[in-house]
Amino acid sequence: MDAPIASLYLISVGALAMCSFQAALLARSSSYVRACWVFAVICFTFALFQYANLRQQLAPDLAAAIAAHKWVNLFSLLLVPQIWYLIAALDDRKRAFFLSYFVAGVTLFLVADNFVSPFGYRFASLAAEAPCKLPWGEQAFLLAGETTPAYTVNRLLSLGAALYAAAFCIRVRRERARFSNRVVWLSVALIVVTTAMGGATDAGRLQLPYLSGFGFLCLAASYLLLVRREAARSMTEKIRISAALEREVESHKLSSLRFEHALTNDALTRLPNRAGALEKLHAMFIQSESNLTRMAVLLLDLDRLAIINGTRGYEAGNQLLVEVAQRLRQDCSKGGLVARLGSARFVVGIAGHKTVAGIEREVEEILAAVKPPFSVPGTVLNMTFSAGVAVYPDHAASAEDLLASAALALHQARDAGPGNLRVFHPSLQQTLSERIGLENELKGALEKEQFVLHYQPQICAASGRVVCMEALIRWHHPSLGLVMPDKFIPLAEATGAIAAIGSWVIDAACRQLASWRENGFIDIRVAVNLSAQQLLLSDLGDTVQAALQRAGLQGADLELEITESVLMQDPQRSIERLEALRRLGVRLSIDDFGTGYSSLGYLKLLPVHAFKLDRSFVRDIGKSAKDLEICATAVGLARNLGLEIVAEGVEDASQAAQLRKLGCHLLQGYYFARPLAVYAATDFLANERRVA
Ligand code: C2E
Ligand code: MG
Ligand code: MG
Repeated sequence: MDAPIASLYLISVGALAMCSFQAALLARSSSYVRACWVFAVICFTFALFQYANLRQQLAPDLAAAIAAHKWVNLFSLLLVPQIWYLIAALDDRKRAFFLSYFVAGVTLFLVADNFVSPFGYRFASLAAEAPCKLPWGEQAFLLAGETTPAYTVNRLLSLGAALYAAAFCIRVRRERARFSNRVVWLSVALIVVTTAMGGATDAGRLQLPYLSGFGFLCLAASYLLLVRREAARSMTEKIRISAALEREVESHKLSSLRFEHALTNDALTRLPNRAGALEKLHAMFIQSESNLTRMAVLLLDLDRLAIINGTRGYEAGNQLLVEVAQRLRQDCSKGGLVARLGSARFVVGIAGHKTVAGIEREVEEILAAVKPPFSVPGTVLNMTFSAGVAVYPDHAASAEDLLASAALALHQARDAGPGNLRVFHPSLQQTLSERIGLENELKGALEKEQFVLHYQPQICAASGRVVCMEALIRWHHPSLGLVMPDKFIPLAEATGAIAAIGSWVIDAACRQLASWRENGFIDIRVAVNLSAQQLLLSDLGDTVQAALQRAGLQGADLELEITESVLMQDPQRSIERLEALRRLGVRLSIDDFGTGYSSLGYLKLLPVHAFKLDRSFVRDIGKSAKDLEICATAVGLARNLGLEIVAEGVEDASQAAQLRKLGCHLLQGYYFARPLAVYAATDFLANERRVA
């Protein structure tokens, strides 16, 4: 293989085969899959064409050259429909595809003709003796002669393909500027020139081997380079888009997770909300059903959160809730569920107990966990919780019913006052509907003037004279009769009606005292009970002052009683409020003393005039040494602090005697008088004067 043209042919065979391989590879990543495959086939056919050419030129004799020439013809014939098809594939036009099929049909005839004709389809006869000498002196079999009509047909088809390719290139260049590479144009020109040269060789006007394969090689190389670049660019774009898509999907997933979380969780405490709680309760319920264990729902309502919000701000209220949530989470984690249902309401799910005793123990542990004081910025708050419990399977048959039953129990607990716990009982349903009815009626009771005050005297232990009349509210209900404050004050507090009712009580009590004064009972004062919400109302001072003024009374004529447990919830704020009231000159006393677990430190600071010893201590003073001891300690404490002490609930003479002995200043109870309607109270005062 010392002939340079032969080496060039061999190199081109290798290069075209490589191009074919490359094009096939590109088919996988390019968006022009069909075109790439056709191009690979074209490259391969060109490689075979070049190889056949090589065989023809290096043939040992004419017969072998003609045989090889027929193969050259075959491959050149096959190329024409392939090129038509390639452009059709790039152009993606139906008509172009049909044309390429037509060309393929014609080519089939030409191929058949090629193998039956003695010199192949091109030549009717051969003109020159072969081999001939090439311009650079090399010997090669180049055939020329009289061409056939079939040859002309093929030329026309090739010309058509060339024109179609050129038109397509021009259009594409205008539309997308995609193949606007000079190299491509140069290569196309090269193919046209080399094909024309092939025609001249066939006609015997030129003595050169067919060079169109080289021309195509240039085109193939440049085309592949372009497509590769394009493919690389589109691959990078694809990667970029898929990365962006992935990010988008991720962020979408994240936001839908957040959304889902927000649907089932409370943003402040990060505990599950009502929806989340129900989901978990369902799961716990199914487990309890299959394990044949008991399950309980404990509802906890933080008492008087509204007051903390109103007096210390929402920030403090929120912090309080967060701390409650933390404690519940830490101490009740074995319960399986801790959630926040509403503003001040938490739920704990208790599962896995065979006995009610086990549930009771766990409830006690949970209540103990929330009992210690809570610290919010600037102070420490003693909070109480109202609690309701319902147990499966004893009280309900589904998770929802269990929650509803616990809510009923909680309602009842709230009615009993702050810090109470109630377990569900079927009769609660009835109680609750009564309560709702009462709540509605309570709203109009003040306007309808259904409230009255009864008065219970407080007697000086030393002199036996009435010193003070405690006003105790009653509700003349149209159908229920006289309703006691224990039944409706908690409802009034819960509905907010207490503010108006409380103001009315202060006003009515002051008016009553003024009236008694007019009737000559000049040395008594009147005591009024304040509810927790009233104490913390900002306009309480104004209300008191206005009532005193209207009745023409002095501050000292009025005593305000505040229960100890209320004071101890927020001692610091209570002290501030009490001091403001004290500046008005009114007397202040701590009601139900001994039940609120006041710390001595705070007691010392409370600006009050008297303690009212709770009647629960007084009741057993004669029977229980412990109660006697408590009473003695309370009296001693009050005396040491320079305060008056009033004993409540004195029911018999022996109690009165004991309390006198202990040093109580004032005595109050059924032994002296029950709470009396105004006319009876007036009679009582008149009688007492007569006796005196
Ligand atoms: P309190 O201020 O401790 O009033 C004393 C309660 O004990 C009264 O009940 C009274 O009838 C009762 N009591 C008095 N002496 C005896 C006795 O010897 N034995 C027994 N067993 N009980 C005795 P009442 O009138 O039912 O009032 C209950 C509570 O309702 C009051 O307790 C007070 O905290 C509240 N309350 C009453 N009137 C008002 C009011 O106008 N406003 C507010 N916010 N609360 C009120
Ligand atoms: Mg009282
Ligand atoms: Mg009391």
